[in-house]
Amino acid sequence: MRRFSKPWPPTNVSPDNQEPRSFLDAEREYLAALPAATDRGSFARGEFDRLDKGKLREVMYREQRSICAYCELRISEEHPAPRIDHWRPLSQENDLALHWKNLYLSCPTAETCDDAKGARPLKWDKDDPDLPWPVDFAYENRLGFTSRGDMYVRRDVVIDDATRNALRLAIEDQPEGSGTRRTILNLSHPALVAARAAAIDSERTRLERDFPGTTATRAEREERANALLAKNPLPPFVSIRAAWLRKTLGRGR
Ligand SMILES: [Zn+2]
Repeated sequence: MRRFSKPWPPTNVSPDNQEPRSFLDAEREYLAALPAATDRGSFARGEFDRLDKGKLREVMYREQRSICAYCELRISEEHPAPRIDHWRPLSQENDLALHWKNLYLSCPTAETCDDAKGARPLKWDKDDPDLPWPVDFAYENRLGFTSRGDMYVRRDVVIDDATRNALRLAIEDQPEGSGTRRTILNLSHPALVAARAAAIDSERTRLERDFPGTTATRAEREERANALLAKNPLPPFVSIRAAWLRKTLGRGR
């Protein structure tokens, strides 16, 4: 998870055979009609479903530079197409159903990301605030990785309890009383851990190829990390690649 900027609400979200309508106009019309809806949840779903998802995704690939907002897998317009996830669930926050900052592309992978999340909010307690939108929060500075590909919430940075608890639950199952609370995004799925470890291996191989018989300096590694982060599309699992290059991998929990 990383910070994204979302500067491009689409200028046309209508299906090709309909009158063009911008995303912001669609949201405005939706919010004006919402109070009169008898079933706000199904009205929200219906209005969202009227939008041309291909046109939304086209812009979202650019904004997210073609990685999943949650796990950082590469996403593209293949079958199945990436899912458009409501960060704050449509079923619970009707007024954000057509809010551009609330929409993120998730990989369609089974058991992780949007598939794991379903309609659950990204929070621990129901009275907690939701995890902030990634347009407003630099997740890359709060999350850490190990050389084995594990992901964890960093202890060496200041994070309020609600955010810390929600992030932990987003990553993996958490103990609760005598039982376990099921993870929201399942970012510690074994396939993801293995893929992150493989991403480190590929960075190591590239570095050894480009610096044969010598060791890259700290500045050279930093330059490579910055070059990766400037790429478009971003390399999959770019956060752990950059952390490895910067030698900021940690020991985990
Ligand atoms: Zn994902």
